[in-house]
Amino acid sequence: MDQDITARSWARQTIQEAGLRVTTARVATLLVLRDSSVPLTHAEVSARLAEHEMDQSTVFRNLNDMVSAKLLRRSELGDHVWRFEIVTEEEQGYVFHPHFVCVDCGVVSCMQEIELTNKSRAASSRFGQVKEILLRGYCNDCV
Ligand SMILES: [Zn+2]
Ligand SMILES: [Zn+2]
Repeated sequence: MDQDITARSWARQTIQEAGLRVTTARVATLLVLRDSSVPLTHAEVSARLAEHEMDQSTVFRNLNDMVSAKLLRRSELGDHVWRFEIVTEEEQGYVFHPHFVCVDCGVVSCMQEIELTNKSRAASSRFGQVKEILLRGYCNDCV
């Protein structure tokens, strides 16, 4: 089967199972995020959807609808910009991967391999509920 068709039917099914109406715009939006290895801002998603001629507010609404449906995760990584990414199957609970942000060039990386140990999770619960784990430093291009 054609890879595009496989991806599209995955997107349709995922959106449907989340209880949202399947629209061309939502399918396209979900596929943009699926094809990205890093979280994307609203502007970046819009730019990648340019060929679909969707207006910015539609893109924003669809992103937020999919966040509410827990298909996407929305993060604010210290620069007051929302970034969106797919919530993977392993992350359906509450365990999210940390992000690394370069303080020099601003590049954002997903640290899928790293998670809080049970001990760290128990320790951090003394302070509250962890929503975001953020590491800041210099990326390999900036060190
Ligand atoms: Zn950098
Ligand atoms: Zn990420």
